[in-house]
Amino acid sequence: MGLLSQGSPLSWEETKRHADHVRRHGILQFLHIYHAVKDRHKDVLKWGDEVEYMLVSFDHENKRVQLVLSGEEVLETLQEKGERTNPNHPTLWRPEYGSYMIEGTPGQPYGGTMSEFNTVEDNMRQRRKEATSLLKENQALCTITSFPRLGCPGFTLPEFKPNPVEGGASRSLFFPDEAINKHPRFSTLTRNIRHRRGEKVVINAPIFKDKNTPSPFIEKFPEDDEAAKASKPDHIYMDAMGFGMGNCCLQVTFQACSISEARYLYDQLATICPIVMALSAASPFYRGYVSDVDCRWGVISASVDDRTREERGLEPLKNNNYRISKSRYDSIDSYLSECGEKYNDIDLTIDKEIYEQLLQEGIDHLLAQHVAHLFIRDPLTLFEEKIHLDDANESDHFENIQSTNWQTMRFKPPPPNSDIGWRVEFRPMEVQLTDFENSAYVVFVVLLTRVILSYKLDFLIPLSKVDENMKVAQKRDAVLQGMFYFRKDICKAGGNAVVDGCGKAQQSVELAAEEHEEYALMSIDTIINGKEGVFPGLIPILNCYLENMEVDVDTRCSILNYLKLIKKRASGELMTVAKWMREFIANHPDYKQDSVITDQINYSLILKCNQIANELCECPELLGPAFRRVRYSGSKTDSSN
Ligand code: GLU
Ligand code: MG
Repeated sequence: MGLLSQGSPLSWEETKRHADHVRRHGILQFLHIYHAVKDRHKDVLKWGDEVEYMLVSFDHENKRVQLVLSGEEVLETLQEKGERTNPNHPTLWRPEYGSYMIEGTPGQPYGGTMSEFNTVEDNMRQRRKEATSLLKENQALCTITSFPRLGCPGFTLPEFKPNPVEGGASRSLFFPDEAINKHPRFSTLTRNIRHRRGEKVVINAPIFKDKNTPSPFIEKFPEDDEAAKASKPDHIYMDAMGFGMGNCCLQVTFQACSISEARYLYDQLATICPIVMALSAASPFYRGYVSDVDCRWGVISASVDDRTREERGLEPLKNNNYRISKSRYDSIDSYLSECGEKYNDIDLTIDKEIYEQLLQEGIDHLLAQHVAHLFIRDPLTLFEEKIHLDDANESDHFENIQSTNWQTMRFKPPPPNSDIGWRVEFRPMEVQLTDFENSAYVVFVVLLTRVILSYKLDFLIPLSKVDENMKVAQKRDAVLQGMFYFRKDICKAGGNAVVDGCGKAQQSVELAAEEHEEYALMSIDTIINGKEGVFPGLIPILNCYLENMEVDVDTRCSILNYLKLIKKRASGELMTVAKWMREFIANHPDYKQDSVITDQINYSLILKCNQIANELCECPELLGPAFRRVRYSGSKTDSSN
């Protein structure tokens, strides 16, 4: 989850005193990097995925499942046996926010050849196997986005009571500090976000109203004034960073061949974020209740919202410099490429001095405003030993601000003195239950970057519309019910030769061109699978691309299976994880149609998730018939639909 410095963390008051220093030197560090590598080009395509995991423990006798707080130990062993023993080890492990979490990536980035798509799933399987082999009896490694009973009494092993007094990190009524990773970055972030904000974070996720859910649904906090005021009727109230950053996701990072390609990809993929997020929806439950959202996004966004009342527009500006319209964890606020400029229609708060300084240093308006926007934020953590740095050779101050701007996309300059190129990170996806699904989403997004670059596709729409899409994308069943703004003509002049090959695609482009607006409201099915006369569809375009590529049979078969999953999730033939979980709960014999997820229901659900992840049972409604997913082995495989 970003920069991990070691040392003695400063309090918020001390950090604040150094905020201008961090920003000033962060910008100098950025400038050093920029001037050193702005002209770098011909970097090759490389990419990698990040999967976040939770450790759980089943108590079969009492039908309970808990989050095990052994992430640090497991991580230590994984690193010891892995990267520290062998620099070419195929997996890499990193800490994550919860002390019940770990994060795994491939040991080396993937390259540009098609056959590498066929190694993604094996690598994810290896990660699952490596980490699972270190767990104790009855424990499991789960790829679930949100743990349904996170923050409920006794949700951790060992159990801890939250201690809502000043002096700790969260001061949460529900989420004990012991569930936060012990690396000082995480608790310091938690405490300093709260101190900067001037009060605890407030998260209100709408409750799903079932037949027997009280209406209005009101939680009472008689002993806690702050909670009583902050909690909204008909919402599930949460009060700690852990409710958000304690969730898991699936991310992909790409190295582009040059800075301009990175900026182009950043913009294009930004428009795809809400679509793929809705397609990956996997987090319908919070604090033991069924919510009315399917995605974690809004919950995390609120969980790290460090803006003061002034910055949120609740009080006149006195001590702060700006009104800020979004949390640090939110969708991007400006496009970065020249073709994006005319679609930058969101008010952008920037640090004017920094902006001017960047312009003077020869940085163009779009990049300057991007950086000057990130730098309206204060550093949230600072280590005493890391205040004075060598700006020409270090980038910690830049990374400090950059890595606590958790946006849908991240534009990543190369680290100083490295052979890494300009990169972009795609961050909105929810993690799926199985390695098969996670590979499918990753491969889909990577292939999309291939066609965007090869066919010079253009998905840009006004950024305010992308923001509207982000809101729709989180709603319950957005994948089938939601309508999303999407660009009608995605083929730039001269770039559509191959898409022309798909007859229907061309026909629809012409039809669309007659209409006035550049974009229209479309369902995810239309966007992904296409609709005659309306939109060619991303999967048909990917298929055209694949037909023109040399791909070995085995890889082609895997890719087809991945795309089939995406296609069917988009059409509704298969369920999203969120929908499947909702149905599982609804059909559970203990469920009382009251939106409550008891310990036993949670146990059954996570047990089932674990069986599915380890292929101990089938789940055709989520994954499709099992035989379709079997790797090509010389025998006939159905790839007709
Ligand atoms: N776990 C966070 C999420 O679900 C992301 C943390 C990170 O940036 O690695 O979005
Ligand atoms: Mg992470």
